[in-house]
Amino acid sequence: MPGVALLWYRRDLRLHDHPALQAALGSAASIVPVFVLDPRLLDGRRASANRAWFLIGTLRELADDLAARGAPLIVRHGDPRVVIPGLAAELGARDVFATRDVSPFARARDRGVAEGLAAAGGRLHLCHGLLVAEPEQIHTADGRPVTVFTPFARRWAALPPRVPASAPTRIPSALPRSGAGDGLPQPPAPTAEPALLPRPGEQAARERLAAWVASPALEAYADGRDRLDLGGTSGLSASLKFGTISPVEVLRAVAGPGDGRRAFVAELCWRDFYAHVLWHAPHVVRAAYRPLGDAVPWIDDPAGVAAWRTGRTGYPVVDAAMRQLTAAGWVPNRARMIAASFLTKDLLVDWRTGEDHFMRLLVDGDVAANNGGWQWVAGTGTDAAPYFRIFNPVSQGRRFDPDGTYVRRWVPELARVPREHVHAPWTMPRDVQEAAGCLVGRDYPGPIVDHAAARQRVLAAYAGLRRA
Ligand SMILES: Cc1cc2nc3c(=O)[nH]c(=O)nc-3n(C[C@H](O)[C@H](O)[C@H](O)COP(=O)(O)OP(=O)(O)OC[C@H]3O[C@@H](n4cnc5c(N)ncnc54)[C@H](O)[C@@H]3O)c2cc1C
Repeated sequence: MPGVALLWYRRDLRLHDHPALQAALGSAASIVPVFVLDPRLLDGRRASANRAWFLIGTLRELADDLAARGAPLIVRHGDPRVVIPGLAAELGARDVFATRDVSPFARARDRGVAEGLAAAGGRLHLCHGLLVAEPEQIHTADGRPVTVFTPFARRWAALPPRVPASAPTRIPSALPRSGAGDGLPQPPAPTAEPALLPRPGEQAARERLAAWVASPALEAYADGRDRLDLGGTSGLSASLKFGTISPVEVLRAVAGPGDGRRAFVAELCWRDFYAHVLWHAPHVVRAAYRPLGDAVPWIDDPAGVAAWRTGRTGYPVVDAAMRQLTAAGWVPNRARMIAASFLTKDLLVDWRTGEDHFMRLLVDGDVAANNGGWQWVAGTGTDAAPYFRIFNPVSQGRRFDPDGTYVRRWVPELARVPREHVHAPWTMPRDVQEAAGCLVGRDYPGPIVDHAAARQRVLAAYAGLRRA
């Protein structure tokens, strides 16, 4: 057995159910875990203070957990294509183990690292662990990718489930125990309110999963997930994004009968689906999945975009979603869809503008899911004919936030607006506005676009494409 192997952590920041850790343990007498703080991610175009806060908090806990098991975490700064082969040479390690990732950025980085290692006779082993099903596990009978959700989900559900591995109690390491996590900075200040962000780390993720499995919200999830006022979702997305919990463990924990559990498993399948789409069609990070989607006549509307970003569109449910995004770094799925539909359909602004904004603020910001969500809403994604999917922000609000509880929480100007007007404040007679302390145009904006007219405009724009 070779002496030393590197375990290169990226966004698989856990000890439980970690195939790369298990593979490393089986292949070398001594394991050296390493994390590389890559300035291209931490300071790049889509850097997010909220995610950096979560990441560093998680790494500090992981460093302690690894040290307690005997293997201090080495932290380095720089480009992994230089750092990893350099560290391997320094420690005399030939094998480097990591969890395979799907984005074009990650794949290019990993190719560079593999080449650097190979030049010195070493090898990068990319293991499962990010997803329930890996891209090569799902394909058509003749070996092509499955890019329509329903047949994808059928194949996904039929796969034999992987049995999750438990966390090792000891990780042999040749390095001295001291100095665990040396080089880790303090977590940077998030832009969101810290109290509203999910607690970083593996322990918190495991507690969250246990609470979710015990919660009545899981049984009620099929409908509850869409209710903006009830908060009926797991809140596990940041943990899944950073791998503080394994998706296979989540799947095993929620397995069972009932519509709620079935619906929740379907969402885990959507997570895999978008990762597979990104793997097979990496062009989606820059362009529409379908070429037709790039011909939409998007409008340049800086004032509209500014109103959208700051939650001042005059449509309460859109504004609540956008203000929650700023304050909490997280938004429920229904509100993400409503906000994204408003930008792309009501304002006819390019989905990439919204995708970027979400990516900078979401603590769970994930290239595959975010891109998939935006392209689904914009109608440029894998769906067959979704151009007519235009959310009406008033009826969506009334349906999924019937009493206006969600809207009032995030848009305090509307706190005293009566229920029947809370999703369309401009319909309030003047005396009601006065009584509610909310004059439309002064305390809260009037709608920046007329939804009915905007709907006609976007339908015409998309119909033009289909004729072209
Ligand atoms: C425009 C838009 C952008 C989005 N951006 C992201 C993103 O950057 N990161 C992200 O993790 N999710 C994203 N989603 C998907 C979804 O909104 C979030 O995963 C969900 O709101 C997270 O909350 P939760 O953990 O409580 O979800 P739950 O409802 O409890 O779902 C459990 C898990 O399933 C996965 N999941 C749920 N819904 C979806 C979905 N529609 N697509 C893919 N995976 C899903 C997530 O990992 C989630 O944690 C986006 C959706 C839209 C419409």
